[in-house]
Amino acid sequence: MTERLDRARILAGQMGVDALLVTPGADLRYLTGYAAKPLERLTCLVLTQRGVHLVVPALERAAAEAAGVSVPIVTFGETDDPYRIVAELAGDVEVVAVDDQMWASRVFALQEAFGEAQFALGGELVSTLRMVKDAEEVRALREAAAAIDRVHARMGEWLRPGRTEREVGADIARAILDEGHEQVDFVIVGSGPNGASPHHEVSDRVIGAGEPVVVDIGGTTAAGYCSDSTRNYVVGGEPDPGYLAMMEVLKHAQQAQREHARPGVTAESVDQVGRRIIAEAGYGDRFIHRTGHGIGQETHEEPYIVEGNTRVLEPGMAFSIEPGIYVEGHWGARIEDIVVCTEDGLEVLNHSPRDLVRL
Ligand code: ZN
Ligand code: ZN
Ligand code: ZN
Repeated sequence: MTERLDRARILAGQMGVDALLVTPGADLRYLTGYAAKPLERLTCLVLTQRGVHLVVPALERAAAEAAGVSVPIVTFGETDDPYRIVAELAGDVEVVAVDDQMWASRVFALQEAFGEAQFALGGELVSTLRMVKDAEEVRALREAAAAIDRVHARMGEWLRPGRTEREVGADIARAILDEGHEQVDFVIVGSGPNGASPHHEVSDRVIGAGEPVVVDIGGTTAAGYCSDSTRNYVVGGEPDPGYLAMMEVLKHAQQAQREHARPGVTAESVDQVGRRIIAEAGYGDRFIHRTGHGIGQETHEEPYIVEGNTRVLEPGMAFSIEPGIYVEGHWGARIEDIVVCTEDGLEVLNHSPRDLVRL
């Protein structure tokens, strides 16, 4: 973890941040390895050019040590003012950056304790580091992807006409845990017209024969890394030819995006490559979301694969490629893989079939 903190300190210097303050969440876990619970007592990493400390409630010292925190731990008692302790550790600073998810109550208390200092968001600083995965993180993402692939491979055990989305979803959730995740993050089973709503979860709708079903599922492994993969199914019959034609377009678009994405191209160009194919086939206004999101210790993080993001992809960046086409009132489809930029190309982490799966 010290290497990450060193990089954070160098970057803070380059960005003109005198003190970076990070409370429990994915940023703290990334920087220190400590998955602290976000409780009412303050836990806060204090990083300056002079040093790094972790301020924790006295009763949580043991938990922080057990997590292997490598920086000096400063504790406070029930009647101490932890915000004052943070300000004293930071010393005389002009620009204080706080993590993007910090509670407003903490931000205000810190502003009070720091007096004149100028406050800024620190999310960009930490996400610049988190965005580029090291070999160990890529391995963890690969394992998460393999785990969710195993769940998709078992879909025939649960997905049948006559069952509700909710019943199928409950079985999938159990399998997400059984196949190597510690936590279920989301289960989307969108049958028939529900498939046209990208963030539909499950409902009591009964799945009909020949209906397309969008299944988008993900979890977090014990190593703390997320999976996220979407596949498309049809059960007990043949779907409408219009849907099949649409799936062909989507498959081409997603494949073209996988062939295009690599270090040196911009994030937005990956989006454009797929969007052009979908638009040329007449579905332009039905691809209603960005192409993808970064993934790591959180399901959605930088880099976002979206029009307007001119960031150039680099080796180690991990993100989803998930174009979708949604025909309201009828059906929808989305194909989603997690990919990682290698030195000169792309590693696709998901391997389950991208074609429509007939069960
Ligand atoms: Zn999403
Ligand atoms: Zn997804
Ligand atoms: Zn996704």
